[in-house]
This record gives sequence, C-alpha cells and structure tokens, in this order.
Amino acid sequence: MERVYNFSAGPAVIDESVLQKAASELFCYPGKGMSVLEMSHRTGMFMDIYNSAIALFREVMGVPDTHELLFLHGGATMQFAGVPLNLLTGSRVADYLDTGNFAHLAAEEAKKYGTVNTIASSRADNYTYIPSLAGLLFTPEADYVHITTNNTIYGTRFVALPDTGSVPLVADASSNILSEPMDVSRFGVIYAGAQKNIGPAGVAVLIVRRDLLGKASPQCPKVLDWALQSKNESMLNTPNTFAIYMVKLVCEWMKEAGGVPAFYERNLAKAKLLYDAIDASKLFTNPVQPQYRSLMNVTFVTGDEAKDDAFCKFCQKNGVANIKGHRNVGGMRASIYNAMPMAGVQKLVDLMAQFEKEAL
Ligand SMILES: *Cc1c(COP(=O)(O)O)cnc(C)c1O
Repeated sequence: MERVYNFSAGPAVIDESVLQKAASELFCYPGKGMSVLEMSHRTGMFMDIYNSAIALFREVMGVPDTHELLFLHGGATMQFAGVPLNLLTGSRVADYLDTGNFAHLAAEEAKKYGTVNTIASSRADNYTYIPSLAGLLFTPEADYVHITTNNTIYGTRFVALPDTGSVPLVADASSNILSEPMDVSRFGVIYAGAQKNIGPAGVAVLIVRRDLLGKASPQCPKVLDWALQSKNESMLNTPNTFAIYMVKLVCEWMKEAGGVPAFYERNLAKAKLLYDAIDASKLFTNPVQPQYRSLMNVTFVTGDEAKDDAFCKFCQKNGVANIKGHRNVGGMRASIYNAMPMAGVQKLVDLMAQFEKEAL
C-alpha cells in the first residue's frame, strides 16, 4: 500500500528516510548483534545511543551548558505535575497563561500543589488568540510563569515571549519545539512530548536550567524528580530506549537537512501556502486572529458541519489523512510539523480547490 500524507496532530508524520533507517537497523543494530529493542539500558552500546541522542538534540536545539537535558516518561502531561512538584516549592504561587486546552490542563494540575494565578485567558473566546502580553500582572514572588508556546488544538502560537524578569519562564513546547528558533537561555524550563516534532510517542524532552534543580517537594515521586533524573542520566528506571533511539535518528536527519533554521524557512513557506489558500477561498475560513496563527497546526472550517465531514472524507479518499479538527473546535486541522513535506501541503491545497469548485 502507498503511504498517505498524514496530517495527524500527534503521534505525527516521521520523515520516510528516518523510518527506513530505523527499519534497516531494527533486526540487528550495526555491529552489535542485537536489536535496539533488546539492548539493556545499562550497557555501553545503549549509552552510546543515549549520549548521541543527547548531544545531537543539544546541537540541533541550541541548548546551552547552563541547561540540563533529560528524556523522561509520561509525555508532556506528566510534566503538568512535574513542573509544580519540582518548582512550586518556594512561595508556592505560580502564574499561568490560559491559551488553550493543554494550558488549562497544566494549570488545573498545578492547583493540586499550590496557588495558581491565571493571569490571562482567552478561554471565553474559544482560545482564538493569545492575550496581550502588555500590562500582564505577574506575581513578583511567583516560583515560575507557565506558558504553552503553540496551542495545538486551536492553532495559535506566541509570537513574542512575556518578560518575566527574574521569575523563571516555563514552557510547554510540545507542538512547536524544533520547528522555529528558540532562545533556550530565556527559559527556566522547556518540556515537550516527542510525538509531534521529535519522534515517536513515549518519551518527553525536558530542558531545565541547572540552578532550578534540587527544589523538588518531598512528596515528588522519584521518577519525576528532575535533579534525581539528572544524576541518573534519565535512567532512574528503564527509559523508553527505542523512542530515545528514534530521537537520535530524527536529530541526525534534521542536522543533515540544515537544522532548525532550514526547517523554520520551510515551515514558514508551508504555512503561508496553506493560509493563503484559506484566505483566498470562499468556502474555508481560519477561525483564529491572524497575528497569532500557528505554523504547525492550521485550523479551518466551512461553517457547515456536513461540508466539513464531506471534505474530510474527500481528503481521506485522496491520500490525505487525519485532517479532522479536534472536537473542541470542529472543522479541520492540518498539522504540518517538520516532517510534513511541502508536497503534502500542496496536495491538500489542491484538494481544497477541487472540493470548493464542486461544492459551490
Ligand atoms: C500533545 C500536547 C500535550 C500532551 O502531550 P502528551 O505527551 O500526550 O502528554 C500537551 N501539550 C501540548 C501543547 C500538546 O500539543
């Protein structure tokens, strides 16, 4: 069977060359006599893979020495608890910006461990924009400020970072990490589930400024204690060895293709092609404020549920999969992560034009 263009929000498309490399090495890892699936995480052969994955990710993302990099279990959602358990231990107050469903869930989880101030929210407007950062009332003694850099379900993104002064900025970057340049030094913590831009599900990346390690609450489970995980090279218990290996392959592929700057250029071009098509269309509209449009998750609707359904089916029949929007928004969502080629976006745009001609 031929492969389709997969616009899934996550787990998401992985580049074909990466999948082929993984397939070719799966049965017997070169020179090791066994599959990566069979390697003990405590052995030199796996540690070589782990150390390469760490070094490559640091290089591709531009993670400075001031920051530790860990590969953890439990996805981004586990870090909704991990963040307060590790950081909400000083004043026990944190500020959250409520810009989407995941941002909301992160704040709700943190409330179990301290005081959460939601200092800005676009929830009442179905998260169609990022609230203005000018004049935000930060809590001066807060342990941290939490943002979600790209809102996967609604298709919005932060185009500038809030200035939080000396209060650490913590970011869930699950759906835009590695898709655009990020100045890691501006963040106390960045975390992301891997299954959008970094690799397969089952591993999460955590980047934490080293001086923020060692503040965990006594109730913090060991596997969530970043300082302990740092001492144990992400291997307090058995890590997701295969997913870490895949992260290594994705980073190798990215590095060879020019790294984040090259992908950013391509991502801008892909997003422009799709948003321009939506803006020129008489059938499809994009429901978010244009200045906050995401480069990774493009939402669009016809305003008629039956037509939305018909378009999704039309795409499915023509080799374009997983275009249906999240149930909170309806309509369509095209996730165009790093591994989605321009040809996939062009195909979607062509199908939109064809459908529009037949529908109107
Ligand atoms: C997908 C996603 C999550 C959830 O990730 P899991 O790894 O499934 O926990 C959280 N935040 C954002 C922004 C996401 O896109």
